[in-house]
Amino acid sequence: LTAPDTVLPALRGAVAGLPSYVPGRRSAGMDIAALASNESHYEPLPAAAAAVAEAASTMNRYPDSAAVELRERLARHLGVTAGEVAVGPGSVGVLQQIITGLCDAGDEVIFAWRSFEAYPILVELAGARRVHIPLDEAEGHDLDAMAAAVTDRTKVILLCTPNNPTGVPISHERIEVFLQAVPSSVLVVIDEAYVEYAEAGSGPDSLALYRRYPNVCILRTFSKAYGLAGLRVGYAVAAPTIAEGLRRTALPFAVSALAQMAAVASLDAGEEMEARVAAVRQERARMAAHLEARGWKLKPSQGNFLWIRADGSLRASLVDAFDASGILVRAYQGDGVRITVADSASNNRVLRILEAHAA
Ligand code: PMP
Repeated sequence: LTAPDTVLPALRGAVAGLPSYVPGRRSAGMDIAALASNESHYEPLPAAAAAVAEAASTMNRYPDSAAVELRERLARHLGVTAGEVAVGPGSVGVLQQIITGLCDAGDEVIFAWRSFEAYPILVELAGARRVHIPLDEAEGHDLDAMAAAVTDRTKVILLCTPNNPTGVPISHERIEVFLQAVPSSVLVVIDEAYVEYAEAGSGPDSLALYRRYPNVCILRTFSKAYGLAGLRVGYAVAAPTIAEGLRRTALPFAVSALAQMAAVASLDAGEEMEARVAAVRQERARMAAHLEARGWKLKPSQGNFLWIRADGSLRASLVDAFDASGILVRAYQGDGVRITVADSASNNRVLRILEAHAA
């Protein structure tokens, strides 16, 4: 439709070179088990659904851009002030605000790899430099190497606990030692998207760390345990000056009124959420025990997913078998397969496939 010599607007080089974020495939049929995106398999919490229905009557109006009610409710939930809370369209949205708010072109962001696939994209998009530190042999963060990688261009370090996709948490003690080794001018983001699924004591008491190390920023989401992935709402807790800066970098009205009200209602329904999380944890333990008894050597996952380290022909045959059974999982080139823990019927389908491939 355009003449051959028409010069079209050019995207920035950083955009043209971005790694792509490949979302987990979505389920299209009754028998498809959607285990690729670590969503909650439960229906929305009734209180959240009711809040959405109520908020829907206001959708001709813009939402509260400052998200005052949600930030105050979160502050009460966490024992901080609303001034220390910033919300955004998913924790990935808040993370984009963090990186673009702190990094000039050429500044460095350190993170472990493999970890959440949005990290390299957000860093590149900001024109910053990604510094990947390979996971250690236990599939966890190599914090010594991460601390050693800090330079005077380092602005942000991302710690993902439990780590997506390996499920391995970072202990409170190890994070504390790390924080002592890192200059206080570097923002250490603790991405706790799956924190509700971790057994008590397995991960950091990040709020206690935040109180002692004001360069800590805690990142959490309503997408996983709270079951609001489709509404897009996440938050950060950070020192008031940082949180205020994040609020200034936000797109106006980025979090809808539906999302804000559903998030408030979800916090009020904490006990129901916890009962669901307990059931997922129980299933996770059942699956892990079952697989270990059949020769699989898994690292204990603290997320709502299992990580199957597999490369080459094993990975290929697992992917084929899941595909043929209508089970959507997340396959990572060269590394392995991540499978969301869901209801026991879906989990049993997963177990049957893995049994057939046991080492
Ligand atoms: N952090 C991690 C580690 C994740 O796995 C995810 C979602 N896959 C997110 C952040 C982002 O979640 P959301 O934007 O839905 O809050």
